[in-house]
Parts: sequence; structure tokens; C-alpha cells
Amino acid sequence: MGIYKRILVAIDLTDEAPEVLGRAQTIAQNNDAELLLMHVIEPVGYAYGGDIPMDLSELQNQLDASARKQLAEYGKRFDVEPSQHIIAVGRPSSEIHRAAEEHNADLVVVGSHGRSGIQLLLGSTANGVLHGSKCDVLAVRIH
Ligand code: AMP
Repeated sequence: MGIYKRILVAIDLTDEAPEVLGRAQTIAQNNDAELLLMHVIEPVGYAYGGDIPMDLSELQNQLDASARKQLAEYGKRFDVEPSQHIIAVGRPSSEIHRAAEEHNADLVVVGSHGRSGIQLLLGSTANGVLHGSKCDVLAVRIH
């Protein structure tokens, strides 16, 4: 019997995603744990300040569809059933906290660039997830 029963891995769909997901998959296998695969879609309004009124719904729909498709592909590649996929919309760290609690995850796995100094103060997603998490957090160092 392993230490962890339900592991939530959050991926950002960039080049680093396979490294983070691969690590989570190995830990899940070694612990005989369930693996939940999550991606958080960030509303386009977050990046664009919103000073000029603009209809961003079409762009948002395209981004949502693309994110869902990519998550499904990662799921297939790493053997995570669609029923174990979680898609949320919002701020990544808050949504990851919420999902971890909702699904009773006992470990959250994210990637970390090991930033320091001013970037650490500004905060990365790994930092945000670590602070306030009710369960263990593994930050996979991205090289
Ligand atoms: P960042 O601090 O944004 O460079 O991201 C570090 C890690 O946080 C990534 O490797 C993912 O594990 C996680 N992460 C960042 N953005 C997202 C997102 N939109 N959805 C899910 N996980 C994310």
C-alpha cells in the first residue's frame, strides 16, 4: 500500500507538461493511486486588461476547445481515462486548490522553474499552489 491514494496533476499544456505528467504517472503507479489530470483555462480577460470594450467570447471559445483537445491527447498518451480529466476556468492556483479539496486529493503535482528573487515575490503557479494547500504538493523541477 502506497502513501498516496489520489494524486492530482496540473498541467499547463506547454512543453513542460509531459515531464510533470510523466513524474505524476510514475508516482501514481508506485503508490497504486488514482491519477486526476487537470488543466485550468485562464480567461482571456486576465491577460488583456479590459480597458477597451471588446467581445472576446469567440477567442475564448477557441482557446477552450483547443485546451480540451490537448488535455484529451495528454490523457490518451499517459493513460488517464477521460472520467479522470478536470477542466476549470479561472486562476490556476485557486482552481487547483479547489479541485484538490473537492476530489480529496492527497498529493498535488505541478511543475516548477525554481525561480528566485523578484520572480519568487511575484509568485509562480507552483508557489501559489504550495501556499494554502491542504495536502502535500510536489513541485517537479523543470530543466
Ligand atoms: P508557471 O508557474 O505558470 O510557470 O507554472 C508552473 C506549473 O504550474 C506548471 O508546470 C503546471 O504544473 C502548473 N500550471 C500552470 N498553469 C497552469 C494551468 N493553466 N493549468 C494547470 N496547471 C497549470
